[in-house]
Order: sequence, then C-alpha cells, then structure tokens
Amino acid sequence: MKKNPSILLIYTGGTIGMMKDSETGVLRNFNFDELLHQIPELNLLDCNISTYSVDEPIDSSNINPEHWITIAELIEKNYSIYEGFVVLHGSDTMSYTASTLSFMLENLAKPVIFTGSQLPIGDLRTDAKENLITSIQIAALQDPDGSCIKEVGLYFEYKLYRANRTTKLNAEHFQAFASLNYSPLIESGVHLTIHRDKLLKPNKKPLKVYKTLETNILLIKLFPGITDQVLNHLFNTPNIKGVILETYGAGNTTTAPWFINLIKQTIKREIPIINVTQCSGGRVIMGQYETSIKLKQMGVISGKDMTTEAALGKLMVLLGQKISPKHFKNSYEKNLRGEMAEN
Ligand code: ASP
Repeated sequence: MKKNPSILLIYTGGTIGMMKDSETGVLRNFNFDELLHQIPELNLLDCNISTYSVDEPIDSSNINPEHWITIAELIEKNYSIYEGFVVLHGSDTMSYTASTLSFMLENLAKPVIFTGSQLPIGDLRTDAKENLITSIQIAALQDPDGSCIKEVGLYFEYKLYRANRTTKLNAEHFQAFASLNYSPLIESGVHLTIHRDKLLKPNKKPLKVYKTLETNILLIKLFPGITDQVLNHLFNTPNIKGVILETYGAGNTTTAPWFINLIKQTIKREIPIINVTQCSGGRVIMGQYETSIKLKQMGVISGKDMTTEAALGKLMVLLGQKISPKHFKNSYEKNLRGEMAEN
C-alpha cells in the first residue's frame, strides 16, 4: 500500500476557477495558481499534489473532442508517475467528457475523478472546496493491491458516481448530477462510505488509450410531429457514420411507414443506429411494445440503460476503431466500462 500517494490535478476550466468581472458581472476563467491559493487546506491532505493547467482554461460549453484527446494523452503520459488523477472541469458538459474518457481509457487501474462546482471557489458559499478536497482524497485512497478506485468517476455534492452513468440534471442545486440507473460508488458523510460491490474490478492488462474519435455522428431527439422532410435531410447528411436516436419510454418510436423506411434504408447503408431513451431513468427494451418491434427486427442497436452522454462517447470511440459493420452491433451492445446493464 502506497503512503502519501501522488495525485495529478488537471485544470481545464469551468466555474470552479472563474471570477466575476467587476465591470460586467460576467463570470470568466482566471489563473489556476490563484485557484490553489484559495484553498490552503490542500496542504493538509496526506498526498503529494502536482498541478497542470491547460494553456487556455475554458467554459466547458466550448469543450470538444480535441480537448478530450489532450486530457487522455496527459493521463497516458503521467500514468506511471501518479497514483491518481483529478480533472477540474465545467459542470455543463462534464458528463460528456468524463463518459467519453471512460471509453478512451481501457484497462484503467487508477482513479480519474472529474469534479467542478456550481459556484466559483472564491465565493463565500462555494461548493468548490468540498468537491475538490474530497475528490483528491478519493483519488488518493489506497487498497493493498493499489488504488481503491480503478475507473473514471465524477464527484459532486458528497457523491462519487461512475462517470459514464451521470447526467447534469440541475443548473441551480449544488446536487447538479444524477446517476439514475446506477447507485453511487462512494458517499461522503462523517466517513467516506465505499460501496465496494459497485466498483469496477481491475483488469491486469496495461492501459490502452484510444485517441481516434469519429465525430461525424448525429444525435436526434424524437418528438411528436417531427417531419419526414427534416429527418430525411438529417439522415442523409454527407459522410454520416452513426446515429443516436433518443426515443420515447422503453425505446419506442412512431410506426409511420416513412419513418420505418428511413431507418431501414440507413441501416442498409451500414450506418449504425443506437436507440436510447429520452427518460432520465430506466431502459430500452425493444420488442416490449408494438412501437419498437420493427426497430429490433431491422437491427437497430439497443442502448439499454445507457445515458445519452455515454452512448455518444461510446459511439465516437468504437467508430474510431473501424470495427466492421458486421460486428459493430455486437461490440456496441457489450458492457465495456460498466456503462450499461449486462443484458
Ligand atoms: N458554464 C460552466 C461550465 O460548464 C458551468 C460550470 O462550471 O459549472 O464551464
């Protein structure tokens, strides 16, 4: 068991490191060193903290797959040096980044904990300090066989979640995230309660990092009244490599012939279509209703109980691996990083 583990704190931006412009009142990013000065408590932790800030910290609404590759490369480069990684990130797209990172990092045996805050670190009522301090403590947790957490997590408001199970649900409450289909990995009260049965079990193979992400994909949320014309236009966007369809309830859609025909033609063009539910909790069960049986028969891929964020990251990473169209459905429907139910 490692004493005084070394943690790399990576700063990408977000409210946690922002301050109010005195003239306009608009929140903008400030220097990472200033952020650390706001939390002298970090010196009391039983670990060695090194810091790295991206050149230009950003509001996470500006994040894109290039940034995800940068974060993955940073972790890969420092993987043997540190026992754990904490990534400070804006909460708006944190679930997208953290979910995708979970697929980019295969055989992860160390913690990568994403966190941020709803209020800037300098604010009197800030949630940033607790989120940051506990994230570092969690990243430093050691078991006799190495790190306690061996996966990508997201810590916010007293809970560590599996990152690829999370969604940002609230822009106001400190409890901004939810993981409706998988209960928390750790809860922070007087003690840290670790739910060991929930943790991903380690794989002894070396870390593998997937850095090719396919971004020519579509994410379409169905709504009553969506037209043939609009969907036809979208599905026929040149160069499209995959589609995520947010459907109703347990994976249901309209059975209008034009819609069914469009799905059939798209699958014929070897473009995978993933079915995820618009509901925050629960799962897709194609074939449960008449309104989804045809989708199943045509070879639409089941997103099961995955979040949209996880489905998107998984699609980008798997398409990047150039898996043959014949095997793509099978590969996608497999649980890779604890992101979906086994069956
Ligand atoms: N707009 C901010 C961001 O996502 C909000 C936050 O940090 O929570 O970067």
